[in-house]
Amino acid sequence: MPEPATAAAELLALDRRHVWHPYGPMPGSAAPLLVRSASGVRLRLAEPAEGRQELVDGMASWWSAVHGYNHPVLNAAAREQVARMSHVMFGGLTHEPGVRLAARLARLAPGDLEHVFFADSGSVAVEVALKMCLQYWSSLGRPAKRRLLTWRGGYHGDTWHAMSVCDPEGGMHRLWSGALPRQVFAEAPPPGFDAPPDEGYAASLRELVARHAAELAAVIVEPVVQGAGGMRFHSPAYLRVLREACDAHGVLLVFDEIATGFGRTGALFAAEHAGVTPDVMCLGKALTGGYLTLAATLCTPRVAEGISRGEPPVLAHGPTFMGNPLATAVAGASLDLLLDGDWAGEVKRIESGLRAGLAPARGLRGVRDVRVLGAIGVIQLDHEVDLPAATRAAVANGVWLRPFRDLIYTMPPYVTPDEDVARIAHAALAAAEAA
Ligand SMILES: *Cc1c(COP(=O)(O)O)cnc(C)c1O
Repeated sequence: MPEPATAAAELLALDRRHVWHPYGPMPGSAAPLLVRSASGVRLRLAEPAEGRQELVDGMASWWSAVHGYNHPVLNAAAREQVARMSHVMFGGLTHEPGVRLAARLARLAPGDLEHVFFADSGSVAVEVALKMCLQYWSSLGRPAKRRLLTWRGGYHGDTWHAMSVCDPEGGMHRLWSGALPRQVFAEAPPPGFDAPPDEGYAASLRELVARHAAELAAVIVEPVVQGAGGMRFHSPAYLRVLREACDAHGVLLVFDEIATGFGRTGALFAAEHAGVTPDVMCLGKALTGGYLTLAATLCTPRVAEGISRGEPPVLAHGPTFMGNPLATAVAGASLDLLLDGDWAGEVKRIESGLRAGLAPARGLRGVRDVRVLGAIGVIQLDHEVDLPAATRAAVANGVWLRPFRDLIYTMPPYVTPDEDVARIAHAALAAAEAA
């Protein structure tokens, strides 16, 4: 056995030489932290960083680990399913964890979103959603309806069609602007979950849907919270405006709830804030409690029947690992944990903790805005974050944060105790001061 420190140094050298990290250069520039294990809300590092061996996780591994790490119930579900079968193909075969999860998602989802297509990541779930919409109109003899409308400031994933509906200016996709399908963009929704709806903006949405209806297959948005496109919150009223405009002009409505689903905003699905049922809904991220990659695209009978009237009468998509038994079994156990527990109370508790803890950031130099909704807290700066400095400051305070652009933000696991929520807020302030 090599010295642990030597092993760590060797792993980091191999990492730098061979491994791409998200949105990273090759070879890597900044050394990532090496995580040895994780349990509850804590990540255990192989080597101390800024004097810390353990970090409270403020990111829930990008919205996903809502129950924390190494959870005995999820571990047991995974072990039990591994002993039975980790995977079988979904073409021509089916299995209990997949069937039960689909039925359950159909029951939980708003309205009549009752048909479930499993995908292996959020981006693929978005691709499937868009394919459903285009194919729906093509099946109905309206092949010209193949463009999409969205509002600016969105994020829907990194695959090709998903990128085309991400914010065209900010974000990481400007590079491809000439090569991507050209979609129709509305202005970003006016900020503020509680802000009174802006009638002028609502009218502009209606007008844009009406003007482009003949070429639009669907409107796709993230309801209530725009995540990786800028961590912005908006009034649910605009979702009702979109629903009405889509109904009036024969356009499908897609909600991408990959980040917002499963309680993060204070409602089980963000669509519930608006009382709106979309025609298609994407889920992912927290679906397996952060254990495995799994996503789902749900649609209504109208969409499914429309597609089935076409030639070919099938949805032409089928990932190799579709409906993976291990992932669907853990997702089932994660939903048990969520729904048998008091997720709404926990999210509310974290919301108050973040409101109190982040409020002092308003007085800091360089801070443009501080906002909290559900178990999401955001400090927006008036300048680009100095990522290494901000990360170091958070780590020195015993917390893992991963700022981007002008944003220092947190969406901790729902099981984060009050003192750790306070610690996260404190670290976010330190990161804002250092950034
Ligand atoms: C993360 C995210 C995606 C992409 O999901 P991946 O699993 O990373 O492919 C799509 N839409 C939204 C709203 C997301 O937050």
